[in-house]
Amino acid sequence: MRATVVELRGVSKTFRGGALITALSDVSLTVAEGERVAVVGKSGSGKSTLLAIAGSLERPSEGAVIIDGRVLRELSDRAMSRLRGRRIGFVFQSFNLLQRLTALENVAEALMYGGVRCPERIDRARDLLDDFGLGGRIDHFPHQLSGGEQQRVAIARALANQPALLIADEPTGDLDPESGATVVDALLAAGESTAVLVATHSPEVASQFDRRVRLEDGRQVPISG
Ligand code: ADP
Ligand code: MG
Repeated sequence: MRATVVELRGVSKTFRGGALITALSDVSLTVAEGERVAVVGKSGSGKSTLLAIAGSLERPSEGAVIIDGRVLRELSDRAMSRLRGRRIGFVFQSFNLLQRLTALENVAEALMYGGVRCPERIDRARDLLDDFGLGGRIDHFPHQLSGGEQQRVAIARALANQPALLIADEPTGDLDPESGATVVDALLAAGESTAVLVATHSPEVASQFDRRVRLEDGRQVPISG
């Protein structure tokens, strides 16, 4: 059996604005090493909240989050950011590349945080971008790239340090279907030991994943069809 990378145990999340908003209600989920899981559901159903909690960016109001066998609430902030930095990669809808850095530099910078030395990080960044079909774009700045290309750079960056978990929140949300397809291919090309957890409201995207988790008003519901 493959090791569990992330487990959510009875996780709930409430936000207190004027009224109390329940974004997630008693959600339990495990993602195994290398597994590709899609979280689906309408806008406002809790997908982003679930991903932020699974990625240790937010704390649950109730329940436990276990990453790599470590219960997050027992970790110091420092230990948690170290775990996040080393073990989790993130991709967002709006690409989030550093605008003043080229594609190559965006990926090389991630490798620097991963402790890779200078000459080697340039070579590795180039190889990674090549793998994602961006070999001819390495010296382009984000504004010189299409949305699909920017997102593939973002995926290359998120995967640079071979994380145990890649979290992608609506990675194709701002893209036309054709560019979206290249981005899904890039996500699914993550190494065998990297689990991928994606949020999407596209059935087409979700269908390409090993497993689907559906949310409705913050609750997990059975997948129909
Ligand atoms: P989705 O990603 O599926 O669109 P979200 O997880 O973003 O859903 O949001 C789920 C619910 O929680 C929504 O009702 C949203 O308005 C609410 N919510 C999310 N984040 C916050 C926040 N920081 N403060 C208050 N309410 C929030
Ligand atoms: Mg969302």
